[in-house]
Amino acid sequence: MNAPCDPDCIFCKIIAGEIPCAKILETENFLAFLDIAPVRPGHTLVVSKGHYPTLFDLPAGLGTELTQALQAVSRAVMDGTGADGFNVGMNNFKAAGQLVHHAHIHVIPRVENDGLELWGQTPYPDQDRMAQTASRIRARIPGAQ
Ligand code: 5GP
Ligand code: ZN
Repeated sequence: MNAPCDPDCIFCKIIAGEIPCAKILETENFLAFLDIAPVRPGHTLVVSKGHYPTLFDLPAGLGTELTQALQAVSRAVMDGTGADGFNVGMNNFKAAGQLVHHAHIHVIPRVENDGLELWGQTPYPDQDRMAQTASRIRARIPGAQ
């Protein structure tokens, strides 16, 4: 099921064992290891073993295994670091901050008042603008009304 590895990809090299990592969990199709430059200690990456560049390329059939891996890793990261919560995030494409173009999900432990800021938000100017945006997006989903 896995896409062939890319010889120039750092995560493919980690998965092949050519570059070491601080391993947290291995399942049939995913490897979880510590991020080398964590937002906070314990920050873990859940990485597909196959070289799939973004979420769009990940086989949907891996969804259950991915969810289970994320739950196990997030629980262990929280308990193992004494965190009060955690963020799960995925950067897709360069514009969204993706640096390694091999699908991976960040699990970042959080504690109360740790000072980390998520992205800023701005309300829609009015209900019409919000409805138009929803309708433009919905139109791209086959079968959605
Ligand atoms: P992205 O911005 O692509 O979502 O995140 C890539 C992440 O991979 C970064 O947080 C970065 O610190 C991490 N990273 C890059 N190279 C290595 C490496 O060789 N080993 C490990 N463990 N993490 C890496
Ligand atoms: Zn790769």
